[in-house]
Amino acid sequence: MEVFREPRVTLIARPEFLEPAHLPVQWKGEASGGERLAEFAGRVCYMSQRNPANRTTAEYLENIKKQGHGSVLEHAVYVLLLEGISRSCSHELVRHRAGFGYSQLSQRYVDESHAAFVMPPAIQGDAGLEAEWQQQVTAAQESYVRSVAGLMERYAWIEDKVHRRKVAREAARSVLPNATEVKIVVSGNARAWRTMLELRTGEGAELEIRRVAVAALRVLQTTAPAFFSDFEIYAADDKHDAARVAYHKV
Ligand SMILES: Cc1cc2nc3c(=O)[nH]c(=O)nc-3n(C[C@H](O)[C@H](O)[C@H](O)COP(=O)(O)OP(=O)(O)OC[C@H]3O[C@@H](n4cnc5c(N)ncnc54)[C@H](O)[C@@H]3O)c2cc1C
Repeated sequence: MEVFREPRVTLIARPEFLEPAHLPVQWKGEASGGERLAEFAGRVCYMSQRNPANRTTAEYLENIKKQGHGSVLEHAVYVLLLEGISRSCSHELVRHRAGFGYSQLSQRYVDESHAAFVMPPAIQGDAGLEAEWQQQVTAAQESYVRSVAGLMERYAWIEDKVHRRKVAREAARSVLPNATEVKIVVSGNARAWRTMLELRTGEGAELEIRRVAVAALRVLQTTAPAFFSDFEIYAADDKHDAARVAYHKV
């Protein structure tokens, strides 16, 4: 059985900015497509394409965050593939509604007989707790396999095999634990990501989603630093990473 001890976060899409030839901006400094897009949108509000304050994109967006003019950040959408996160973690994640879109592995369609599981950070490193956890998830998965077989037999009268499998799997999945691994594609605009990251990288967040959020923050800071540079990652007293943000809910 595969056990995840940390999430896998992969950036799978980011904005490409196509500058209109009739409204060119006097850019300063290097920037990614998403950052240019947000600056362009902000400059349309005041028709300041000439860049009178002679700001780099990073300086311009710093001021946007400071002023709370965060709506221009909504144009830039970043898509992450999250793997190695638990079903309970994804349930917390999808509570973030504004500016987000999700596509999550379906336990009704996908055979979970060989599903992986995610070990909670708080259990890792304690041999006794790990063994107890491993025993429980193994037993649950064995029960799932038996349930699917039994349900396939019970509903043998359903001729369409795909439908029969779905009927079996959607009922059998009820015995799978919260620790079952899911894969989920998450689209979010930069403003929405900031709000989610502020809540979920904080020390009050549950440890697994906090770990996912810190990993997502690292990816986003690399791809679009001007949107996320005011987040500071630090090692908290509980020995897990957390982050604090300079500009609250832009
Ligand atoms: C530490 C922690 C503990 C939690 N514990 C629980 C718990 O015990 N039980 C539980 O059910 N949930 C819990 N949650 C989830 C929490 O209640 C939120 O559902 C989650 O954090 C998403 O936040 P949000 O609604 O601000 O996000 P989004 O839905 O993405 O909204 C972003 C922002 O948009 C605005 N907005 C969105 N929708 C509306 C609306 N309908 N009306 C007005 N403004 C809106 C708000 O300003 C909101 O903050 C917890 C979250 C955290 C971080």
